[in-house]
Amino acid sequence: MGRPGESERKAKLKAWREGERQKARALYPLTELRLGEFFSALEVLRSGHGCFHDLRHSLRVIQAMGLTESETNSLLNWCNEHGGYCDCEIAANTFMHWHETRAGA
Ligand SMILES: [Zn+2]
Repeated sequence: MGRPGESERKAKLKAWREGERQKARALYPLTELRLGEFFSALEVLRSGHGCFHDLRHSLRVIQAMGLTESETNSLLNWCNEHGGYCDCEIAANTFMHWHETRAGA
């Protein structure tokens, strides 16, 4: 049995976490669905060819998705802000940020 107040504290913590996740989602550069497409296509290239410590796989995926220049810029800035400066970092760090904050998580 939890102490009185404990479940209330848990509920507040949960609400706070959800609020943080909502704030993170508001900064997504593309829809959640499009980000999902980006990360899964990137992972296929990265796991098949490895990382060359540049953005060649990400840029290939971006091109295949037909993103505009401004969408591309916001996506890559967002990746940088979440620790993704090359394909493997995007597939690990930025993916994890998306994975932890997306609505479906
Ligand atoms: Zn890398």
